[in-house]
Amino acid sequence: MASFEENTSQYSLIQTVLEGNAGDMDEKEREAVDHIKGDKVTQPVISLSYNTASIVAGADETFNAIRDYLEERDIDARLNVIGSLGLITAEPLMDVQLPGKARVTFSNVFPEKVSDILDAVFNNIIPKEYVLGQHPTDLHEPWENIAYVNELPFFQTQKRLILKNCGRINPGSIDEYVVHGGYRSFLMAIRNYTPEEVCTLVEDSGLRGRGGEGYPTGKKWKTTLNAPAEKRFLICNAGESDPGAFMERMIMEGDPHSLVEAVAIASYAIGAQKAYIYLESEYEMACRRLQNAIDQARDYGLLGHDIFSSGFNLNIQLHQGAGAYVCGEETALIASIEGKRGMPRPKPPYPSHRGLHNQPTVVNNMETLLNVPVIVRYGAARYKQTGTDKSPGTKVFSVSGKIERSGLVEIPMGVSLREVVYKIGGGVPDNKGLKGLLLGGPAGGALTYDHLNTRIDYEELKQLGCTLGSGAVVVMDEHTCILDTVKYYMHLLEEESCGKCIPCREGTRRMHEILENITKRPEEENGSFTLHRFKGVINLERLAHVVQDTSLCGLGQRAANPVLSTISAFRQEYEEHIFERKCRAGVCQELSTFYIDVDQCTGCTICAQKCPTGAIVGSAKKPHFIVQERCIGCAICYESCKFGAIIRK
Ligand code: SF4
Ligand code: SF4
Ligand code: SF4
Repeated sequence: MASFEENTSQYSLIQTVLEGNAGDMDEKEREAVDHIKGDKVTQPVISLSYNTASIVAGADETFNAIRDYLEERDIDARLNVIGSLGLITAEPLMDVQLPGKARVTFSNVFPEKVSDILDAVFNNIIPKEYVLGQHPTDLHEPWENIAYVNELPFFQTQKRLILKNCGRINPGSIDEYVVHGGYRSFLMAIRNYTPEEVCTLVEDSGLRGRGGEGYPTGKKWKTTLNAPAEKRFLICNAGESDPGAFMERMIMEGDPHSLVEAVAIASYAIGAQKAYIYLESEYEMACRRLQNAIDQARDYGLLGHDIFSSGFNLNIQLHQGAGAYVCGEETALIASIEGKRGMPRPKPPYPSHRGLHNQPTVVNNMETLLNVPVIVRYGAARYKQTGTDKSPGTKVFSVSGKIERSGLVEIPMGVSLREVVYKIGGGVPDNKGLKGLLLGGPAGGALTYDHLNTRIDYEELKQLGCTLGSGAVVVMDEHTCILDTVKYYMHLLEEESCGKCIPCREGTRRMHEILENITKRPEEENGSFTLHRFKGVINLERLAHVVQDTSLCGLGQRAANPVLSTISAFRQEYEEHIFERKCRAGVCQELSTFYIDVDQCTGCTICAQKCPTGAIVGSAKKPHFIVQERCIGCAICYESCKFGAIIRK
């Protein structure tokens, strides 16, 4: 049995595939390629989805259980590791493929289920209670009455151009990547096109930067290519600090070679011989797998000097940052790579003229680059068939929050948010109502239920004051307090502001303070205090506009988005917090009022003993009461009463 994550390199065979000489291979070599590809299976292959999400769900224990099962029964099977299919709520996922039969995926495979599943499969039975679905194939016999994975609601609307390998191939194996068509686009680019032609191809495809406002990628590249310089640099920004964003991490963990290939093509197109991939050092598994991919690509001659006799030289370096949010700004990112403090500087000069070490530099977000191999492989015209006229291609989202099926989703641009939430995500759990969505992290914006028919493209979202941003979609149900959420985002922005300019440094702090004030119990109950709070809201809006208009970089310019978009979408909730001192979601504890139901109260005295202000009075074995004037709304009594006698309103 092969060990976990082991990869056997078949160097000369893979070189033949890369050279495009597959037609010259003998039968033995062709069979070996079919084996690596999974087109021919001579022993059972068990593949475990092994990534940060599945480890949290218990993949280590599942792996041990699978290994023990095979060892105890002396079963000759290959145990393989794959990335995630994206359906995080179903992790750990386990695929089983028997010789001649279609590959089947099982969901939530916890250790105690392993022997049930494998006993059944080795007896040619698919246990329906555990199965997610089978994978369509012309090469192997399908299982009867088992759904196909790509027809499940989570996958049906998706179009996987960027995620096509995630959950399918071993992220540690360059061989698997190559036999599935990997590095073909890169070799096509350096053999068949000049750098200028690759830029034109990307320009013709209409690809727009996925990280922000959607600037045309090909145009940015051409400016850099044509800027006179000794050297040029490419920087791939693979950092993601937004709450709810995990797409870049999962792609790097599941298919790191696709990023190496994309960076290599972009570097060639802009004439860069050195490229950096910038990511958080906290992304330990992504760093490790990406470094392994870079090392393998170098060993196979895909990086380094005179790559495949093209005359092109390229070195890719990982740069691990400390996860500073402001390094999402390209000038701050450049400063960080130069070893300076990650602080933005005014533009112009733009990095395309003076970037890293004062040389022309392209900074692209990771998802933008991942589109490039697809464009090179299929051409601009075919690429444009997906998506909308002005926003071609697909968009990857990480969908989380109050949603039935959370995970990584890739949809054609133009699909509605309703389809993402209800069709792909399965809607809000427990029949709760949907309050809205937070799109694109703290710098993105909030949308209500009424916006669900909005199509996902740059223009439509811009009209609503939103950007695609990080691609994080956080779903809120009716029990989410919008003010509490904005307060959390504002706290994050306050902490992450680099402090260089006053409107952002002080403005984010003040906005956070005002939100704190609104969500707290008022110290006085008179009308002047209400007026003071009301003024806070007026100030909040005004302040938000000042911060938006006068900040130096995108962090400050977009820091007002959560406030402005939620005041516009959820104004009533703001007013309830201010005038009625009420949090309808029951989240702002200090605004809640607590009562004791005398019919339920046993007089056990626990609440009175725990109340920090002595607000609860009563004798043992008799109903207790809360003196409202003394109560600070800490909810300790509510949480400690075992008889459900305390009511929160
Ligand atoms: S806007 Fe904020 S993050 Fe940007 S430079 Fe100014 S202080 Fe720093
Ligand atoms: S903890 Fe509950 S049951 Fe006990 S005295 Fe308090 S309200 Fe009554
Ligand atoms: S909410 Fe806190 S302060 Fe108020 S009665 Fe309960 S324990 Fe006491």
